[in-house]
Order: sequence, then structure tokens, then C-alpha cells
Amino acid sequence: MFKFLRRHALAKQPFPAAWLNVLQRRVAWYARLAPELQLRLQGRIQIFLREKTFVGCGGLEVTDAMRVIVAAQACRLELHHEPSHFPHCETIFLYPDAFISPVTRLLPGGVIEQVPTVRIGESWHRGSVVLAWTAVEAGAWAGWTGRNVVLHEFAHQLDSGSGAVDGVPLLRNRAAYARWEQVMDRSLTRLRLHLSRGEVPIDPYAAQNPPEFFAVTTELYFEAPHMLHAFDPELFQLFEDYYGVFPAHRAEAA
Ligand SMILES: [Zn+2]
Repeated sequence: MFKFLRRHALAKQPFPAAWLNVLQRRVAWYARLAPELQLRLQGRIQIFLREKTFVGCGGLEVTDAMRVIVAAQACRLELHHEPSHFPHCETIFLYPDAFISPVTRLLPGGVIEQVPTVRIGESWHRGSVVLAWTAVEAGAWAGWTGRNVVLHEFAHQLDSGSGAVDGVPLLRNRAAYARWEQVMDRSLTRLRLHLSRGEVPIDPYAAQNPPEFFAVTTELYFEAPHMLHAFDPELFQLFEDYYGVFPAHRAEAA
């Protein structure tokens, strides 16, 4: 209850003019939001920035503008539904650019190998998200490219909200889970079939597993809705029901 009241008060605080300036100049889709959604986003950003810790890595000094740009994109995911405020993410590590991270691979014969891999983002089930600032900034401004590292990593955070990272976020009831699994399974199977024929309707990285499928198609829903709609209208509809309807997406997808 205390947390609820504190968040309510934070959301009502005046939004700093410098932060508003950042949203207007550096977050492409902010201007397209209805005024009441702009206000709601501002409130969510205030809560996000109060509750999450940012840590600069690789010599990066984290500025308020960086924090606002990360927060705006993460909070965009929950703009239309009851916000979770991403409870598993306490710390956001920000690198200046793509960073090297060891990725665990399973080789034939059950051998586990750690391979250094260049990455622009990571989401950990407990505690943190890692982001490359150049990719964060490009995602906020470029728009409609279909790529957005913040949406991707925070979709993984939503995914972990149900207890496991399995491509299924927290949903309302059993019927919603059944529908989600049916639509997602069918859609992922369809993507793998396309890829096996040499057709690439969406980023093939999505075919890796259900969590990556959820994260990549989430990026598309917000950044290239026409592409997601063309690939799978039923999945598009599922996301409209989950993330909410963004009129610009509808126009773009039509
Ligand atoms: Zn991912």
C-alpha cells in the first residue's frame, strides 16, 4: 500500500522542463501520443527513474537525458495496461556502445562453451538490464525500422513477470494464457517454416526460442507494425489486446 501511495505521489509531481525537452526532441513517437498518454508516460517515467539505478560502464557518464530516453521507451510497453513497473529490474547498466559479453553455448556431446559475443543489450531474469547507449538513442529517434533494443530487453522483463522466461508474460486469466500460447506457438512454427524455405518475413533471430520470438515481435509491434501485421495478423491482434491499441500502429498496419 505504501508503495502504491508513493508511486501515486511521484506520478503527480511536476515533470521537469529539461526532461520534457528531451522527450520532444529525442523520442520520435512522443509527439504522436494523445495528450493524456503523454501525461501518463511522464508519471511512469518519474516512477521508473526513482526506482531504478543507472550505472555507467566503459567510461560512460550517465546523464539525465540518457535516463529519460531509456525510461520513456521501457514505459511505452506498459502505457496501456496496469503497469508492473518492471519489478525484477533494479539496475540498468549502460555502455557507450556495443559491448562484449560471454554467451554460453551447448556444443554436441553436452560440452558447454563460453563464447565472447558482441551485444547491444541483455536482460537478466533477476536484477538488471544491460544496454548500449548508441543503440538506445537510435531506437528512440529512428523509429519504424523494426529495431529497438530497449523494447526488446524490457519485453524480456515483462516475460519474466510470470515467474519464468518462456515467452509468456503475466496475463489476466487461464483463457488468456491458453490463447497466448496457441497464437505464439503457431506463429513461431510459421516463422520456422518460412525460414526453412529460405524466406525471411521478419528477423530470423526471433526463431531462436519463444522468449526471443516474443521480444523481437514486440519490437515490430511498436516500431514496424505493418511488418508484423503482414507476417501474422492474429499475432498483431494478440498484441493489440495485450499492449493496447496505438492508433498510429493501426494506420501503419492497414
Ligand atoms: Zn533477447
